Amino acid sequence: MREITAGQITQAVARLCVQANRTLPEDLCTRIRAAAAAERDELPRAVMGDLCENIDAAAAEQLPVCQDTGMAVVFIRLGQQVRITGGLLRQAVDAGVAQGYTEGLLRKSVVADPLRRTNTGDNTPAVLHLELVEGDGCEITVAPKGFGSENMSRIYMLTPAQGRPGVIDAVLDAVRRAGSNPCPPMVVGVGIGSDFEGCALLAKKALCRPVSQPHPDAYYAQLEAELLQKVNALGIGPQGFGGAATALAVAVEYAPTHIAGLPVAVNVGCHVTRHASERL
Ligand code: SF4
Repeated sequence: MREITAGQITQAVARLCVQANRTLPEDLCTRIRAAAAAERDELPRAVMGDLCENIDAAAAEQLPVCQDTGMAVVFIRLGQQVRITGGLLRQAVDAGVAQGYTEGLLRKSVVADPLRRTNTGDNTPAVLHLELVEGDGCEITVAPKGFGSENMSRIYMLTPAQGRPGVIDAVLDAVRRAGSNPCPPMVVGVGIGSDFEGCALLAKKALCRPVSQPHPDAYYAQLEAELLQKVNALGIGPQGFGGAATALAVAVEYAPTHIAGLPVAVNVGCHVTRHASERL
């Protein structure tokens, strides 16, 4: 049995909160710059230029890439050979979020109660997803999620007969309804299968996959490419001003489902679809 202390987890989560908010994944930056170069019209080209300048300024000044530093979504893949000592996992994660958001001067965006709406003051609690896996490692991913994009996300409980065309229609419907709200160009996470809550989690996990990495199954990689082409044909464009880049990537994750259903979740990410990972 390997021991990992609650303090190690807290420090890792704190580091990742700051890192994810200041530095976009390299392959996402590459996509943004390529999309900027590919815009033909003046307005979308200028908007994409501003987005590139913003990324560079955040890196140079060590500032967040967006003022909405998000709710901290934390994925932990914990090896079954690990014993956590010195505290509870949930408390360790929340302590890391509080430390990262406070020391990193990141905006605190979480309210304790969805109706009475008092700010918790330190961006806790995190949204924590724990998966037990083989081995003695602990892989932590922090994916801060702004709600300009989260609010545009949707779930469709399709019938099996609607099949692949129904999935494509659902994704296009979600993106069309989102319009300029999620600060396009977007990253579109799609979860297909499982059940109501399971497909939503798949869609969120899809947003954490590197945008340069297509689905390993050729069938789903082809579906991702087709969806990206169709989403971009909608012409919403950078920040909704029209143009070629409505989305930078579409990522699909799937899971087994019931014979009577075809759940589809679309988790919309913005051009700052942030995530950073560390392995203890
Ligand atoms: S949608 Fe994204 S880029 Fe727009 S305000 Fe929210 S976090 Fe920032």
